[in-house]
Amino acid sequence: ALDAAKRAGRGRHEIYRAGRDVRARDAELRRAIDDGGLVVLFQPVVGLATGGVVAVEALVRWLHPRLGLLVPDEFLDLAEETGAIVPLGEWVLQEACREAARWRATVPGVEHVRLSVNLSPEQVVAPGMVETVRAVLEETGLPADRLVLELAEGTLRDPGPDLEARLASLRELGAGIAVDDVGLSSLGPLRRLPVDHLKIDGSLVAGVAGDPVARTVVEEVVRLGAALGATVVAEGVETAEQARVLAALGCGSGQGFHFCEPLHGRTVAQVLRRTHQGTRIDE
Ligand code: C2E
Ligand code: CA
Ligand code: CA
Repeated sequence: ALDAAKRAGRGRHEIYRAGRDVRARDAELRRAIDDGGLVVLFQPVVGLATGGVVAVEALVRWLHPRLGLLVPDEFLDLAEETGAIVPLGEWVLQEACREAARWRATVPGVEHVRLSVNLSPEQVVAPGMVETVRAVLEETGLPADRLVLELAEGTLRDPGPDLEARLASLRELGAGIAVDDVGLSSLGPLRRLPVDHLKIDGSLVAGVAGDPVARTVVEEVVRLGAALGATVVAEGVETAEQARVLAALGCGSGQGFHFCEPLHGRTVAQVLRRTHQGTRIDE
């Protein structure tokens, strides 16, 4: 069933989601968290005007002993359902902060580069999460103002009673807050939240060069970003044409295969070194 689910891809785990299989896979995942079975890749976020790296987003992978390299769509739903997302998220945070602290120590001129880490809705409400973030920053030595926590869209849809207070505590530590997958439906809830970065959903970015509706929504997000004092980042930038149109619409930075795919930590250090010397990442 696991193999069938992997072949079927995204969102298909319900096929084998009978109790025993879920328990077995949950146990496998928890073992992977403890035994080095997960890896973090990093995708650069690029200033559209300069072509330089402004941030790096941590993206988790599971190196499964039988199924090979699994992407988050193949195991995060399970982790969210069983609660394994909490230890998994802590591991990613720690690993990513440690790696970012390493770049800061070894690559000159990268003090400004931020690290983005994704949080599932379950992680945001987990008890002690603010304390965990504080402890990881202290332990790894990454300055708090270089860390950005990215909230999934579901967090806004179902914010719970103390979301604002938690975000405020995280910002008090010095960390930034980003909202992921921003589209039309997130514009309403966003007006009420303290956030620092808006990440435009890749589906809008895909349409920006040809579809006037996508372009209008992007313009709306850029306006909202300006009103909130938040930077606007486009996700899933795949072509030079999209990058050009996004820059013209006032979007500050972008991320996507056009610039760079997610990389292992040591490769990111090489990219940082090269772009710091003034080479655009897309050259
Ligand atoms: P996301 O936060 O929206 O991350 C962007 C996704 O788009 C990544 O998929 C990335 O590899 C992919 N991508 C990058 N450039 C392009 C492009 O040009 N075109 C297209 N089509 N895709 C591009 P990935 O790594 O498979 O992650 C999927 C989602 O899983 C992420 O979406 C994020 O919501 C979640 N995720 C990843 N890592 C973590 C984690 O450590 N913790 C949590 N809670 N969620 C994570
Ligand atoms: Ca993200
Ligand atoms: Ca996205």
